[in-house]
Amino acid sequence: MSKERFQALEIRDRIAINYKYSLGGQSKFFIELKNNKRILGTKCTKCGKIWMPPRINCSECYTPAEWVEIKQTGVIMVSTIVWYTTSAFIKAIPYGVGFIKIDGADTALLQGIFSENLVPSKVKKGKRVKAVFLKEREGKMTDFFFVPEEEYESWINKPEYEGGS
Ligand SMILES: [Zn+2]
Repeated sequence: MSKERFQALEIRDRIAINYKYSLGGQSKFFIELKNNKRILGTKCTKCGKIWMPPRINCSECYTPAEWVEIKQTGVIMVSTIVWYTTSAFIKAIPYGVGFIKIDGADTALLQGIFSENLVPSKVKKGKRVKAVFLKEREGKMTDFFFVPEEEYESWINKPEYEGGS
């Protein structure tokens, strides 16, 4: 057997796919995000736990949950800075991403964290952040992101962004 090192042939190509999918019971979250810049979580009707991201049924006691508006401020629980990403986010790198515990929620949401001066201290655990919304929203998770609280006014004054409800 040859000791020649195996080298796989790689062919670069592109795939374009048109598709649609239903957001089902989660639709209200995305509709409120798009139309009213509101961030909705759900509150368990039995144990009272507030889920963000929202759960239609409580993941702990399996009881139906009801929609509740939550705040647009929170605190970073854990984060990292993204340097490698898909084509959808390539123009944004580097950017932060982290689990954010929104004020009033009992669970944390994985979401983008942007900063005008992205250094680790801007996205570190314990940092206070606030939601900024795209003016042109489509009802997607990328319709909003978080910024350090001290940068909020600067971000919402940019032409493509605005503050929340
Ligand atoms: Zn529950």
